Amino acid sequence: MRFRDIIGHDEIKRHLCRTVRQGRISHAMLFTGAEGVGALPMALAYAQYVHCRNRTDEDSCGECPECYRMQRMEHPDCHYIYPVNASKEAVATGRADEKPRSEQFVHVWRRIVPETGGYLTEQEWYAELGIENQQGIINKNDANELVRQMGFKSFEGGYKTVIVWLPERLHEAAANTLLKLVEEPPERTLFLFVSAEPERIIATIRSRTQTVALAGVPDEVIARELVVRKGIAPERAAQVAHLAQGSWGAAVRMAANAGGVQSEHEERFIRLMRLCYQQKYLGLFDWAEEMAPLGREAQKQFCTAALGIVRECYLTGIGMESIAYADPGRERFCRNFAPYVSHVTVEAFVAEFERLLAQIKQNGNPRILFTHFAMCVCKIIGAARVALKK
Ligand SMILES: [Zn+2]
Repeated sequence: MRFRDIIGHDEIKRHLCRTVRQGRISHAMLFTGAEGVGALPMALAYAQYVHCRNRTDEDSCGECPECYRMQRMEHPDCHYIYPVNASKEAVATGRADEKPRSEQFVHVWRRIVPETGGYLTEQEWYAELGIENQQGIINKNDANELVRQMGFKSFEGGYKTVIVWLPERLHEAAANTLLKLVEEPPERTLFLFVSAEPERIIATIRSRTQTVALAGVPDEVIARELVVRKGIAPERAAQVAHLAQGSWGAAVRMAANAGGVQSEHEERFIRLMRLCYQQKYLGLFDWAEEMAPLGREAQKQFCTAALGIVRECYLTGIGMESIAYADPGRERFCRNFAPYVSHVTVEAFVAEFERLLAQIKQNGNPRILFTHFAMCVCKIIGAARVALKK
């Protein structure tokens, strides 16, 4: 990965290059950013820049043996740690360890990271591992193995880099082992942590790292790059960029979706809102029945997609003229529903989603959760209707 492969964040790239040129390399860094903004690609590009033999002032060369091996994710001095898990079936049938290590899934990692340019979400990763409904974890075994690896000299005589993707998934024992390494790092070793939820990393590790915080990528940058890199028509690129809300990863996925930018999840939410508006209670039960069998991760994705629509309805209602809609149907929907997603009700909507999300995470019974959620949304819309009639 090179800096030029990353969308936006030019100032951060310049800063990182400068620190390397000036020999001010910090031994523990924390790259933070919401999913899809590019925190993992940034850490990968930085690691490659450190390893590269022919780097320029602003990027690695992409051609030297070090770059070559970094790009194939096979550099012997670069170690990767990420959350993993084995499917319950695989454990039950003895095909997998109960506490697997990152290394056991490195073939998947080496394929999917280059394929996505590092714009990989946690859920996509779990889907690749075949554990959509489980959460990954970084086990103590992984940390122990790292300690062992760190005991060796670097193969190439340069830096050793350790990239820890999603340290918020570190098991406590693993975190403590890793903490010792970070506190007393072997010479010429770089720890690069990459987190989407830095507040959930144990404080002792967080406090020993230098943070590089990536904000959302501006809409106009996403739109421009969709045109340049993906050949998307400018008008559609602008629409997709608006919906992506700063996430290049999300923008690419939406642009690749040939059937239009409205996802199945968005369709599900729009259907729910219509059922609520029409007060079709039996329809609400059917809707919940349809939601229940989806995997936990798909249910979480539904919440994210639906919240995006709630936000658009709200923006429409308060007269944000700059809003760009996915398609005419979506615009019609947002205009129709904007009165029900006002400053009075928007907090209630968000609260319902937060509760639903929390309960999904706690493994609540999905049939009950979604029935209850549908009823609550229906109540909010009902109350808004009454208020509007007055
Ligand atoms: Zn190079």
